[in-house]
Amino acid sequence: MKNHEIHNYRAKPICDMHMHPHVEAPLDESVAIYNDVMEHFNYEKIVLQALPYYEPINNYKTLYFKAQDKRIYANLGRFHHYDERDTKEFYEEQIKTFYAMGCDGIKLYEGKPECRKVFGRSLCDPVLDKFYEFVEEKQLPMVIHFGDPREFWDINKIPKWALERGWLYDESFVHFDALQKEVEGILEKFPKTQFVMAHFFFVSDDIDYAANFMDKWENVTFDLTPGTEMFFNFNDKADEWKQFFIKYADRILYGSDIYNWHREGKTIEEKYSHAVNLVRSFLEYKEPFTDKWTTRTFDHPFGFSDDILDKIYHDNMVRLFGENSRPLDGDRIVYELKRDLPNLKLNEVTKQNADEIIAFFSK
Ligand SMILES: [Zn+2]
Repeated sequence: MKNHEIHNYRAKPICDMHMHPHVEAPLDESVAIYNDVMEHFNYEKIVLQALPYYEPINNYKTLYFKAQDKRIYANLGRFHHYDERDTKEFYEEQIKTFYAMGCDGIKLYEGKPECRKVFGRSLCDPVLDKFYEFVEEKQLPMVIHFGDPREFWDINKIPKWALERGWLYDESFVHFDALQKEVEGILEKFPKTQFVMAHFFFVSDDIDYAANFMDKWENVTFDLTPGTEMFFNFNDKADEWKQFFIKYADRILYGSDIYNWHREGKTIEEKYSHAVNLVRSFLEYKEPFTDKWTTRTFDHPFGFSDDILDKIYHDNMVRLFGENSRPLDGDRIVYELKRDLPNLKLNEVTKQNADEIIAFFSK
C-alpha cells in the first residue's frame, strides 16, 4: 500500500522540494531509491538539494540523477577552496557554470553553524555579491539551510538528544541572531531573490518575526521540512499558526529531507516515512494523533482543506521551479567535472561515481 493509503492522507500528487543525494553509494542504487520513494509517497516532482560540503562530487551526482528522471530537479551547492582562490570572480564563474550545466536552483549550506565556522565569512560578504546578483537576475530558487533551532545555542535549553550529538554551539560559532542578520543582509542587497528558507527558517518559536519577514520580503518562501521542534511550536500556538498558514499559503512548501540512504526497515514506509508522516498528519488530520517518530501527541493538528493543501503540497513548488525542469548540457557537465576532478578528493565509491557520470554524459 502507498503511504497515503496506509494513513488515510489525500490521494493527490505531491511535490517534495527538499530531498538530498547525501550518501556515497553506487549511482544505480540511489536511482532505485528515488524511484521507490516517488512511487510510495505519490510524488509528482522532487528537488534534490546537493550538499557538496559533505561530498564534493555531490553537484555532479545531483545532475546525473536529474538526467535519469524527468521528475527530478537539481539544486546545486557552492564549492569553496577555503583559500585565496575563493574570489569574487571564482564565485561568479561558479554560478554561471551551474546555470549553464542545467541547475534548477541553488542550495546554500554555509548557514549551517559548523559550515559557517569553516567558511569563516559572512553569508552576505561582498565576495559573494556577483553570485547572488546572478541568482536574483535569473530568479533561481535559492534554498538556504540557515542555523539550527535557537535552543542549540543555550546550554539550559538544548534538548538532550541534540546535546549528546555535540550540537551545542558555543561562542566559537556565529550566534543565531547574527546569522539571521547575515541572511537579511543578502536580501537587503538582492531583495527580489527567490529565497526558500529551509526548516521554516527556524523561526517557529517567533510568529511575529516570521510574519514580519514574510511581509518585508515578497519573494521569500518557507519550507516545512522538519526540524521536529517546528511542529511542537505550531501545536502549542495552533490557532495563531493556522491563521499564519492560511494567510501565507502561497508561500509555504512541503519537504521531507529524504536521502539516498539505506535506512533500517523492510519497506519503503518503514525506511523513509518518518518526516513525511509528521508533516502530513499535522497538516491534514482533524483529530489529535500520536506521531510514531517523535512519540509526541499533537492535540491541535491543522486539518487543512484541499485548497490550502494543494498549494503547500504542489502548486507553490511548480510556480517556483517550473512545470518542467531546466535542460541539461551534458557536454558542459563532462567538461566541468573533468576540470574539477583534481579538487574533488575522491575515494573508491565516488571515483566510480565520477567515471559513470562522465561515461553517461559522454554518450
Ligand atoms: Zn536538508
